[in-house]
Amino acid sequence: MAKFRQLRDCLESCGLARPQQFQRPLPCPRRWLEFVHEREYHKAFAQGELDRAAQRRIGLPATKPLVRRTWLAVGGTVLTARLALQHGLACHLAGGTHHAFPSYGSGFCIFNDIAVAARVLLEQGLVQRLLVVDLDVHQGDATAVIFAADPRVFTFSAHGASNFPSRKQRSDFDLPLPDGMEDQDYLEAIGNVLPELLEQHQPDLVLYNAGVDPHRDDRLGKLSLSDQGLLQRDHLVIDACLRRNIALASVIGGGYDALSPLVKRHALVFRAATDQARLHGL
Ligand SMILES: [Zn+2]
Repeated sequence: MAKFRQLRDCLESCGLARPQQFQRPLPCPRRWLEFVHEREYHKAFAQGELDRAAQRRIGLPATKPLVRRTWLAVGGTVLTARLALQHGLACHLAGGTHHAFPSYGSGFCIFNDIAVAARVLLEQGLVQRLLVVDLDVHQGDATAVIFAADPRVFTFSAHGASNFPSRKQRSDFDLPLPDGMEDQDYLEAIGNVLPELLEQHQPDLVLYNAGVDPHRDDRLGKLSLSDQGLLQRDHLVIDACLRRNIALASVIGGGYDALSPLVKRHALVFRAATDQARLHGL
């Protein structure tokens, strides 16, 4: 997918990131992936042996480049989370595949990168408590299921009530939103719950899915946020964490539109992060 490279180019050309600020991940080791995913599933995917029904459910053809990108993207989310612990804030140029369950993928998601990253940090003793803030317009259904019985990871999902997946799961906190919601109401809805969740759970790290599909021009979104609204949302989330000395790692999540507007939309979280890093002296 061209959007990943274009996003990188866009960040450099807009002056949002210098070349030396980028770090290259390695593909996720199998051992880490298996903190979340079943061996049979990831092996079948990597070897191009998923059956038709499983491939259809994912909605992407299992090509070699896709396999490579998928393992790399998960490695990138783990790296981003570690960098966030080190620096207070780090942003991934991919990630957010929150519809990937332990033994199957769905909705363009193959492996659940945030879930893997959370488990890796917990296993390595780098964190005790995590909060997943999933503001992609689709519910983080698989993430909710994966951590349903794990008190160390609190899952928060704000999503279009009528949108995919039709069968919602139970996150620790769900905020279903009505179709057509605009900037002001959306920002109020998030702003009303996020500070309290941070205070209550005191996470060592927030894993933030900054999906841009709540945008009004998004093909799959059904909400009506503007560019400005998305930017304000990202400011709100990052500021809420940094002012409490909580580290934040972001992933780009979903977005469905022509390449050029989409890349600009995904760049918004990097713009917010750059400004917030300066404001908070990181
Ligand atoms: Zn989405």
